[in-house]
Amino acid sequence: MPARLAHPTGAASCSRRQAGIALAGLAGGLLTAPASRLWAAQPIGVFVSLPPQKQFVERIAGDAVKVEVMVRPGQSPATYEPMPQQLVALTRAAAYMRIGAPFETAWMPKMQAMHPRLRVVDTRQGIALQPMERPGHAPGAATAGVPDPHIWTSPQLVRQQCATIRDALIALAPAERARFEAGFARYAAELDALDAELRQALAGKTERRFMVLHPAWGYLARSYGLQQIPIEVEGKEPGPQALARLVERAKAEGVHVIFVQRQFSRSAADAVARAIDGEVVELDPLAEDFIASARATVQALARAMR
Ligand SMILES: [Zn+2]
Repeated sequence: MPARLAHPTGAASCSRRQAGIALAGLAGGLLTAPASRLWAAQPIGVFVSLPPQKQFVERIAGDAVKVEVMVRPGQSPATYEPMPQQLVALTRAAAYMRIGAPFETAWMPKMQAMHPRLRVVDTRQGIALQPMERPGHAPGAATAGVPDPHIWTSPQLVRQQCATIRDALIALAPAERARFEAGFARYAAELDALDAELRQALAGKTERRFMVLHPAWGYLARSYGLQQIPIEVEGKEPGPQALARLVERAKAEGVHVIFVQRQFSRSAADAVARAIDGEVVELDPLAEDFIASARATVQALARAMR
């Protein structure tokens, strides 16, 4: 698991794994060991929808869990459907941490029917969903209404999701409460430090708007007093007229950088960038390393904004 080893706490998590192996070895010949300790040698199977959620669960639970991600790096959650082998693997899982990815609406009922004992945890709980921004519409216009699903891009909202994940894991494995609480506390401290760092990076910027191909950074923008201007309309590329309006708006608002993500075609972003003599920057809001990804996003914003 390279993501975990790359992290400073990797060493600690290795020694925990070694302890786990030793414990499993002991357990083989030690039938009188308490049930919770025998059980602890077996990781809890947890499914998540999106790559960043893997980091959330692993930082809280370490080797006590084995996390499977539905949407793989490079795949788009907007068009994704589970593969048959993923559905088979799901039957061995204990819990599914849903987040509101588009495929969940159609697939959660089917997955629960296949695996009635699966504990489904909705990590959106406690989070006020905001409507999605659309190009060419004033905030709160009549067309607003589709809730923005991208709640994993804001460190503050990630902290809230992690509290939900921690509580769900404690309910699944009460004997591991101390480990999950400690894992949460460590990761929450990292998220708080990241939040402070991002505030610092954006302090003093008078420009507060940025243009994006796909509006994945709405919650991040709200957290730091920024506004994203999306190019696509409900997942579709804009037509020539809408594109011309966007170019006018970009010029009027002094936007000179456009963020794209590799899961989407960037031709519309390239067209706007050419027209405003601007630059296209590729970011990945679905990277597994959320901390690194949020930092890279805000650094790119801070570089682009005045
Ligand atoms: Zn999206």
